[in-house]
Amino acid sequence: MAPDFRSRRAISLASHAKEGDFIFMEIVNCPRCGKVFAKIKSPYCPACQAEEEKTFQRLKEYVFEHPNCNISELSEGTQVNAKKILGYLREGRLETSNGMNGDIRCLSCNKPILSGRYCSSCKLDISKRVGELFPSKSDDSGARMYTAPKKTL
Ligand SMILES: [Zn+2]
Ligand SMILES: [Zn+2]
Repeated sequence: MAPDFRSRRAISLASHAKEGDFIFMEIVNCPRCGKVFAKIKSPYCPACQAEEEKTFQRLKEYVFEHPNCNISELSEGTQVNAKKILGYLREGRLETSNGMNGDIRCLSCNKPILSGRYCSSCKLDISKRVGELFPSKSDDSGARMYTAPKKTL
């Protein structure tokens, strides 16, 4: 599927483009509407991505105006699914100053956290354990799907 280095170079020479000017796109199904599209950065198709941005913006505004809300209040106030809100919080995309009144908790020790999945001490613990399981095998195995070009202006 993915072109190997030689064909990449061939395309590169044919189009008189510089090496590294190509973005390798993945053709994926949008997880929201199911449409097939070429994924560059976002997991959603352009139409859903725009919707997602709007939703996210609404959440951010609500949190800004109601810094002490919890997840169900936020969900009610924005008409956004509570599960989705929790997803944003777990991804660390949405941050709150109060951790949604204790609604976000560390998945390991259940301590209230502001965003993400684990509290800082559990995070440290996990990274230590991962380090023991996979000792010094962290070098890049070339498994990247695409390379984004650096714009030089
Ligand atoms: Zn979509
Ligand atoms: Zn913890």
